[in-house]
Amino acid sequence: MGLMACRYCGQIIDLDFSADSESDAIEYATLKCECDEAQKYQTRISYFERAKKAIEEEFTEDYLKALLLATVQHVYDGKIYGITLKVDGENTVKISQDSKGNIFVTKLFSTGSKIQL
Ligand SMILES: [Zn+2]
Repeated sequence: MGLMACRYCGQIIDLDFSADSESDAIEYATLKCECDEAQKYQTRISYFERAKKAIEEEFTEDYLKALLLATVQHVYDGKIYGITLKVDGENTVKISQDSKGNIFVTKLFSTGSKIQL
């Protein structure tokens, strides 16, 4: 049991368990808080959990999964609009975003599959 403040608004949240460390406790408090910034953070976390799962289902190479997920995070944050990666002579993988903000990972040439994140 423990009390910890939300990282964004400082509201004290009652955790229903003991966290391993203060930084873990802050993380859990922030994940439970209902302030606007905490909710944006929660949305972001769950988005990337889904994106990671989708990427892991579609790709097998660890370096590629890590690179794609990192890129998707930058696209989500508006730092990168998209990339085209030429991979190992066979695949070209494209990450793009449509006007509604949906992010897509597209495999070109091989299977031609396209996943929406
Ligand atoms: Zn908060």
